[in-house]
Amino acid sequence: MGTIITIAIISFGMGLLPAFMASQKGRRFIVWWAYGAVLFPVAIVHALFIGASFKRGTKNCGYCRMAVSVNATHCPRCGYEFIGN
Ligand SMILES: [Zn+2]
Repeated sequence: MGTIITIAIISFGMGLLPAFMASQKGRRFIVWWAYGAVLFPVAIVHALFIGASFKRGTKNCGYCRMAVSVNATHCPRCGYEFIGN
């Protein structure tokens, strides 16, 4: 009994991490919290690679968070190289 409750608490605690990351990109916190609690390894990778949803035509630099064109290959401020999205 105690073990199941402990695992549940740890799962929901870990789920907070992808939830915070996704909410920074304009996603719904509560949805990503549940997602992260159930499928933490998948959610954490997914949260890392999703683009920002609140600005069309721009993406946020993965290093300094500056909004840059979706077509940019490097961040104009810090030089961060975009891979994939
Ligand atoms: Zn940057």
